[in-house]
Amino acid sequence: MIIKENVPLSTLTTMRLGGNARYVYEIEGLKDIPEAFNFAKNKNLPVFILGGGANTIATDDGFPGVVIINKIKGIEVISETSDEVVVRAFGGEVWDDFVAWTVERGYSGVEAMSKIPGTVGAAPVQNIGAYGQDISQVVESIEAYDTKTSELVVIGREDMKMSYRSTIFNTGKDAGRYFIVAVTFVLENEEYIEGPLYSSLQKYLDEHNITDYSPKNIRTAVSAIRAEKLPDPATTPSAGSFFKNIYLSEKEAEEAENKGIKVWEKPDGKKMINSGYLIDSAGLKGKLLHGFRVSDKASLVLINESAHAYSDLASAKKEIIDTVREKFGFTLEQEPVEIPAKSAKKGSVK
Ligand SMILES: Cc1cc2nc3c(=O)[nH]c(=O)nc-3n(C[C@H](O)[C@H](O)[C@H](O)COP(=O)(O)OP(=O)(O)OC[C@H]3O[C@@H](n4cnc5c(N)ncnc54)[C@H](O)[C@@H]3O)c2cc1C
Repeated sequence: MIIKENVPLSTLTTMRLGGNARYVYEIEGLKDIPEAFNFAKNKNLPVFILGGGANTIATDDGFPGVVIINKIKGIEVISETSDEVVVRAFGGEVWDDFVAWTVERGYSGVEAMSKIPGTVGAAPVQNIGAYGQDISQVVESIEAYDTKTSELVVIGREDMKMSYRSTIFNTGKDAGRYFIVAVTFVLENEEYIEGPLYSSLQKYLDEHNITDYSPKNIRTAVSAIRAEKLPDPATTPSAGSFFKNIYLSEKEAEEAENKGIKVWEKPDGKKMINSGYLIDSAGLKGKLLHGFRVSDKASLVLINESAHAYSDLASAKKEIIDTVREKFGFTLEQEPVEIPAKSAKKGSVK
C-alpha cells in the first residue's frame, strides 16, 4: 500500500481541476483493502473511491478525507470452451490494457470499447459503453468490498441493475457502497464477428474496405475513429462526454419529433436524443466558455483549455444547460461524478 498526504486532485482527474485530497491510499493487494477503510474510520474521515479519474470532477475545496484507489493488477482465464471464455480482471488494471489483452487472444465482447480511459474497477460503475458494446453485455459478476458490512461480496449481473450510464454502484441507496476489487467477464471465443455493426463503425470499415470483422480489426478501427474525434487525456484535459444523452418514452419521442428535434432509435428499440446534437444545434459547437472549449469534433466533450477553477466549469456548464433548455426545452444532465468537498459526511463513503 502507498499513503500520500495533501495530493492535488487536479493530478488524479483527467479534467485537471481540484484542490488537495487530505490522504490518498493506493491499494496494491487484497489485504490493503480493510486496512485502507479502517485507516479512514480511525481518523473519522470520509472516503472517496477513485480509479483513473476519467469520469470524476474535483472542486477547488479538494476532499477532506481519504481517496482510496484500487491499483491491484492481474488478468486470468477462469474457464474456456470453443465458444466462450470466462475472464477475471482486477480493478486496478487499465481498462484499455485489458481490452488489448482480450483482443490479442481473439476473444470478442469488449473490442468496441477500446481506448475508453480509466480502470477495470470503474468500468461497471456507470456501465461504460461505446460503438454498440457496453459492460452489461459481458459482465458476469464483480467481487467487491462492501463498505457497509466490511466483507468481500460477489454481485451477479442481474443484481447490478445496469442501464445507460446507471447501475446500483452510482445510483440509489447503494451508490458508492462497494469498492470493486475484480470483475469477471464472459467473452466469446470467436475470431470473426457478424455485421452489420454500430453505424459509424460500420461506415468506417466500409470506407476502408475492411470486411474481416475480427476483434483486432474492430479495435484498430475504433482506435482510429476515437483518435480523430476524442481528446487524449494524457495531453488534453477533459472528462469525455460531459453530458448524458437523453432517453425518451414513446410519447416524449413523438412530441420531440413534432417539434422538429431529431430522435434516434437504438438497436434495442429505445428512443434517444443525442445531447451533442442539441449542443451543436444550439450553436455552441467549438465555443470557448470560461476556459472550456465545446469540442468541435464531439460537442458532448468539454475540453479544459485554460481553466484552473471549478467555478469556471460550473459557469460553462450553466451556460450550456440554459442555452439548450431555452432552445429545446430539455435539461442536460452531467455525466461525470463530483467528489464531494466540504459537505462530505464523516465516516461516509462518497
Ligand atoms: C476522453 C474520454 C473519453 C471517454 N469515452 C467514454 C466512452 O466512450 N464511454 C464511456 O462509457 N465512458 C467514457 N469516458 C468516461 C470514462 O472513461 C469512464 O467512465 C471510465 O469508466 C472511468 O474510469 P476511471 O477509472 O477513470 O473512473 P473514475 O473517474 O476514477 O471513477 C468513476 C466512478 O467510479 C467509481 N469508482 C472508480 N473505481 C472504483 C472501484 N474500484 N470500485 C467502486 N467504484 C469505483 C468512482 O467513485 C466514481 O464514482 C471517457 C472519458 C474521457 C476522458
